Amino acid sequence: MSSRIIDTTCAYCGVGCGITAEVENHAIIALSGDAHHPANHGRLCVKGSTLADTVRTEGRLTQPRISGQSVGWQEAIATVARGFSDTIAKYGADAVAFYVSGQLLTEDYYVANKLMKGYIGSANIDTNSRLCMSSSVTGHKRAFGSDTVPNNYEDLEQARLIVLTGSNTAWCHPVLFQRIKHARQKNPELKVVVIDPRETDTLAIADLHINLKASTDVVLFNGLFNYLVQQDRLDHQYLHDHVNGFEQTRKQLAGQQLSIAKVAKQCDVDENRIQQFYDWFTNTEQVVTCYSQGVNQSSQGTDKVNSLLNCHLITGRIGKPGCGPLSLTGQPNAMGGREVGGLANTLAAHMDFKEEDVATVQQFWNSPTIARQAGLKAVDLFSAVDSGRIKAIWIMATNPVVSMPNASIISRALQQCEFVVVSDVVAQGDTSAFADVLLPAAGWGEKDGTVTNSERRISRQRRLLPSPGEARPDWRIICDVAIAMGFRQGFEFTSPADIFREHARLSGYQNHGRRDFDISALAQISDDEYDTLLPVQWPVNEQYPDGCKRLFKNGGFFAPNRKAQLIAATSQPPQYAVNEEYPLQLNTGRSRDHWHTMTRTELSVTLNRHRSEPWAEIHPDTAAQYGVGTGHWLSIGSQWGNIRVRAMISKRIRPEQVFVPIHWSRQLANSAWLGAVVNPAVDPFSGQPESKHTPVRIHAWLPVWQAKLLTREALPLPEVDYCVRERTSFGFIYHLAGDETIDNWQKWLFQQLSVIPDGLQVITQRHAEPMTLRLSLLHQQQLIAALLVQQQDPFNRQWLTELFNRSTLDGAQMAMLLSDDKQLANDPGETVCSCHAVGKNTIINAIQSQRLSSEKEVGHCTRAGTNCGSCLPEIRALLQTQQELMSELEST
Ligand code: SF4
Repeated sequence: MSSRIIDTTCAYCGVGCGITAEVENHAIIALSGDAHHPANHGRLCVKGSTLADTVRTEGRLTQPRISGQSVGWQEAIATVARGFSDTIAKYGADAVAFYVSGQLLTEDYYVANKLMKGYIGSANIDTNSRLCMSSSVTGHKRAFGSDTVPNNYEDLEQARLIVLTGSNTAWCHPVLFQRIKHARQKNPELKVVVIDPRETDTLAIADLHINLKASTDVVLFNGLFNYLVQQDRLDHQYLHDHVNGFEQTRKQLAGQQLSIAKVAKQCDVDENRIQQFYDWFTNTEQVVTCYSQGVNQSSQGTDKVNSLLNCHLITGRIGKPGCGPLSLTGQPNAMGGREVGGLANTLAAHMDFKEEDVATVQQFWNSPTIARQAGLKAVDLFSAVDSGRIKAIWIMATNPVVSMPNASIISRALQQCEFVVVSDVVAQGDTSAFADVLLPAAGWGEKDGTVTNSERRISRQRRLLPSPGEARPDWRIICDVAIAMGFRQGFEFTSPADIFREHARLSGYQNHGRRDFDISALAQISDDEYDTLLPVQWPVNEQYPDGCKRLFKNGGFFAPNRKAQLIAATSQPPQYAVNEEYPLQLNTGRSRDHWHTMTRTELSVTLNRHRSEPWAEIHPDTAAQYGVGTGHWLSIGSQWGNIRVRAMISKRIRPEQVFVPIHWSRQLANSAWLGAVVNPAVDPFSGQPESKHTPVRIHAWLPVWQAKLLTREALPLPEVDYCVRERTSFGFIYHLAGDETIDNWQKWLFQQLSVIPDGLQVITQRHAEPMTLRLSLLHQQQLIAALLVQQQDPFNRQWLTELFNRSTLDGAQMAMLLSDDKQLANDPGETVCSCHAVGKNTIINAIQSQRLSSEKEVGHCTRAGTNCGSCLPEIRALLQTQQELMSELEST
């Protein structure tokens, strides 16, 4: 069979990069960035470029299951339909709920929303996008009258000042980071300001860092508003023609008396930095402000969004080349979900629950009933499951038991819920463990549809491969359930193209320019045209038949008088304040090479290299205060839950904060369930959880022993105090630690393995002081497991990996298993470049021995950073530290 070239889009972040895949014999044989896609122009980060590694049948759910037993689709669909219909008949429509995901395609999302709001008649459908960008949605709607992103990625190349606030762009939107980096190289005048309490890798492109105290963003942007007024750098014409509420907002914010000195004090930032930021913003016409979860995930997220939108509105810097606010969404189709009405407080096609909107949508759907008021937002929705108000829930393409705040409540709620349906790609997960009915969904690369990225660009995601077993696309499953519930008339879709056409028709229905989201020019496209649809930015209608790059340059907002609204907010502290018992602030976020709860990225050996264990970053002063040393673990506790993770001591974090990544589920680590620690506070307008601030206490944990268990087979997580599973080229490494002494390690090891083959050879080496034990198991001269127990790190994986990668070991190689030297020789250290597996020690050695001074030289010498470029900020940080060290040594 000859190969086929197929263009599609990435499965991960909201950048929405285009991908070109070469497929042969039901396998992806090559994958690269789509050079013609306007979001990435051929670039991909390490996550996107390793997508082919994650397309595996291993661990997949391939058949529907009821109460753990495999069944056919007919039975599964009938059971789900009956479960929901019976619950509705007995308790009413609001006793059921859907919890969906920004991982769904727009077509999946459309039918899920239509079923719940238009046919069941409840608005209890919410999405995990609530956790990611709902403050941005609410902020947009308050300011613009619509959830519109006014600008696009090209503006990053045309700006003269880029403000990145609450965004570790280098890790979370790496291709946009690369675009900004190249823009800076081309235009040395371009300045970048990073606003973040942490020093992240994004600082590699920053001219100025505003390391503000948590939750003082409103102070910073209100101060900027006042400064722009004082300096009279307003666009008076724009204000007059297109903006409401200037005088009132000016007076209210002037009353806050936010001088530069006061802003500096309240934000706890050097006054000169504030002055510099304000001067640059004031004197630069082309300013883009990119913002992300650091702004949104707050109990004052919506106000934070509006305080920065205000500054763009009063200067008229919106919707023009090189200027405007740009919300960076976390997920690949968070925007598509917003378009169809996947949030509980929106109806459909950017319509709300206003009487005329409800009538319009019901008329269009010709539906028997319709939701007339907003449903429950994520946190409230699961509280209603917990209290028994919601009795049946269908969770699609998301893992709330891991990702929701106060997550132990979510598992309790699902445990006691009468009827839980989960559609997922994986057979075993923290959420699917609670499913009465488990439905196998098609994964990335197996289904057709569209997604919308952060700049309103709709792109096709195309099917590359068949699904394993009986897995089906989500739209198909939802339509089948709807038909089985008696709603045939609304759900007889035959393809995603069919659904897309209806979605496009609804967007234009009785619109007449009243609504921003209008893709009615695509309502009549044929199946072939849908198949070949090129990326396009909405609106796509009579006025903009080829899409629209920017909106609002000349006003035209979607508020009743077509004017934008300024919002005067007052800074509020986080809902739960730190106190004597819980004196530190827990900040959460993403790691560079992992995604959400790792169901996909964990499958890639490459993506496991960068950070193999969850960690907590703390400042050296805090570490000293709590007696935390290198090699210690941290126990982190809040009033909601506890975790235990590795301590990473770093000056890049403020002393009052602790940062922990979000990704490790209970399938992969037994003590890193971060969601259970995060507080349940939400923004009062958007309902978005305050995931960036939870009061916590910490203490150091130095276990009695720590160990690495290397195996070819996947094992259930061993029951010890600390365990994390990492995938490697030969199998798995289990990172273990404990307080309880294990007297017979060989017996313990045998208990962990599923099979003890006949003729097993055991090689043991033990030292009493310091205590170390090395146990290697060989079968037919092949190394099948190795256990290294010691009191402290270090651990050099390289030499053991080399031995595991051999099919048999000769005498000399077996002797290596006993060699002490090998344990530490040539340790490449923690991986920096995942693409070429280059470790930190290798890079440091090269910098020191060859006096390297640039990322390019490091790349030439070690290959690090020469593929996707995601690690370049880390290489730059290493160069800087090593150069400082070398000059210090030379001067002494
Ligand atoms: S930047 Fe985002 S969309 Fe692009 S390749 Fe990386 S993860 Fe995928």
